[in-house]
Amino acid sequence: MTARDKHLLETPQAPRTLAASAHTGDTAPAEPPAAAKKNIKDYTLAELTAWMTAQGEPVFHARQIFQWLYQKRVRQFQEMTTLSKSLRMLLESHFHMGNLEAASRQESSDGSRKFAFRLSDGRLVEAVLMPNNTHYTVCISSQVGCAMGCAFCMTAKMGLERNLTPGEIVGQVVELAREIQDDKLVRNVVYMGMGEPLHNFEPVMSSLAILQEDFGFGLSQRRITVSTSGLVPAIRRFGAHPARVMLAISLNGVTDATRGTLMPVNRRWPIAEVLQACRDIPSDNRYRITFEYILMKGVTDDLADARKLVRLLHGMKCKVNLIPYNPYPGSPFHAPDLERCHAFQRLLLERGLLATLRISKGQDIQAACGQLITGAKTAAERVKMTLSELEASLGG
Ligand code: SF4
Repeated sequence: MTARDKHLLETPQAPRTLAASAHTGDTAPAEPPAAAKKNIKDYTLAELTAWMTAQGEPVFHARQIFQWLYQKRVRQFQEMTTLSKSLRMLLESHFHMGNLEAASRQESSDGSRKFAFRLSDGRLVEAVLMPNNTHYTVCISSQVGCAMGCAFCMTAKMGLERNLTPGEIVGQVVELAREIQDDKLVRNVVYMGMGEPLHNFEPVMSSLAILQEDFGFGLSQRRITVSTSGLVPAIRRFGAHPARVMLAISLNGVTDATRGTLMPVNRRWPIAEVLQACRDIPSDNRYRITFEYILMKGVTDDLADARKLVRLLHGMKCKVNLIPYNPYPGSPFHAPDLERCHAFQRLLLERGLLATLRISKGQDIQAACGQLITGAKTAAERVKMTLSELEASLGG
């Protein structure tokens, strides 16, 4: 254990966080409870095809099942009427449908809807359905809580309770799509809800395969964005992975001192290492990394920070998403006034950086970036994870 890790040690207790960490001797996040039947939505098409083969069933049934699950979005095997009754019974005896129950729903004045979905173990995750002119964007969770401990984020107050399975991740998209009552489709999926997606690498990658599958949602690689706080080994794995969806880096600071205060993960992987990992991602002409940058009054909104941001990102094919801070009750940070946000954006644009200013949707229902939470723990209640444990848990 390094001196830096020791600095992060605190009292061990229940869910994990990196903000001020300690050691429990048990570094793996809790798993969802083992069920007698498997969640069929945990299976990629390749995995379901292999299962069909093992059962001696024609493989085209796997494609039909995907269509029933993700295009027609039925809730029971008995509704899969193109399958024989015996196959439906076989499925029923091995799998459950992985339906998620909406424990609560709130609607914003801007039309966004936030849902808390109950998982099989009773835990809750939040997801948001956001309307656009021609389509819907959904923001989904990848973990129950989060270990990263970002100072500006409500989810961090939960610590990490457990990872979601692929079926629990895509299940959110299914349930949100079921809520749509007009003829618009879900066209964008962003992994920006609760959790650090790259800290739950394999299940997230399986969920990406399911969302992209032509017999599933058939979403384009360019329409899915995975956001990370900057886990460098996982960014490198992601870059080498065939999923090839879009990547967003939650940057939020231009010096290691500032970013390290806001995002403990920066103490292990400083800005230069994160940017190098991004530069090393093999890319074609269309691939552009997004850098999310939260503007916090007096913390990250100085125009000198904007100039430094231009220097940091020089030569990268990227865009910057500026997000005025979304405060929550008792939050220690504040949003700058809009004039300052525009000045920050203007400076980036004038220096040749593609920069958008994004006013988060759903602020009045606490559905905006960094506001999702389903059960805060006190600092003493969160089990702490050291930086070494975090690194070990990334596997590879
Ligand atoms: S901002 Fe993202 S990575 Fe940081 S604590 Fe919140 S959910 Fe986790």
